Amino acid sequence: MSDTAGPFVPEGAGIDGLREAATGCRGCELWEPASQVVFSAGPPAASIVLVGEQPGDQEDRRGLPFVGPAGQLLVGAIKDAGIDPAAVYRTNAVKHFRFEPRGGRRIHKTPDVHHITACHPWLHAELQVVAPGIVVALGATAGRSVFGRPVRIAAERGAVLEGAIPDSSAKALLTAHPSAVLRMRGEPGYDDAYAALVADLRIASAAAG
Ligand code: SF4
Repeated sequence: MSDTAGPFVPEGAGIDGLREAATGCRGCELWEPASQVVFSAGPPAASIVLVGEQPGDQEDRRGLPFVGPAGQLLVGAIKDAGIDPAAVYRTNAVKHFRFEPRGGRRIHKTPDVHHITACHPWLHAELQVVAPGIVVALGATAGRSVFGRPVRIAAERGAVLEGAIPDSSAKALLTAHPSAVLRMRGEPGYDDAYAALVADLRIASAAAG
């Protein structure tokens, strides 16, 4: 049988119930080396849901999503887009930190497709409960989870799509992951990359309803 979180997701649970149940998820092998599951943050009745890739090193230690350097950049971009960060529901496509130990450090490793697929029942349940106006997929991993297919950021970003999320009536928008913008800091293209992220978030906010 392929890996899946499905049997661990309680039917009819609210966000708190899902969060609690996710602590016991063994839907794939990523739970074991990670410190803890990192579920979500933000109000369960939000009109905007942001979906990232997976928790990073700091998120894994603190148990909260988007609290590391990329998360801080994202919060700045959310504010610059005129959105109250506290009003946004933040989650990830994959709920455990995937990393490679190297010289005492934990180096981020992109989740494989089978991790994204295994973890998807959590995101699906979250979207059923929150029922947002729009889901913003941050980066290729989130896009794969939200849309259920491979995505190309450069070609598809910034468009408001309807009927694009399986089993959800929420609109959807694909944009870059804040870590991709962060990696450009100090380079000539950084300002444009940051402005493009803000612009996409502004479009999403206007479409959220
Ligand atoms: S990454 Fe997702 S599917 Fe895998 S153990 Fe963690 S919560 Fe479960």
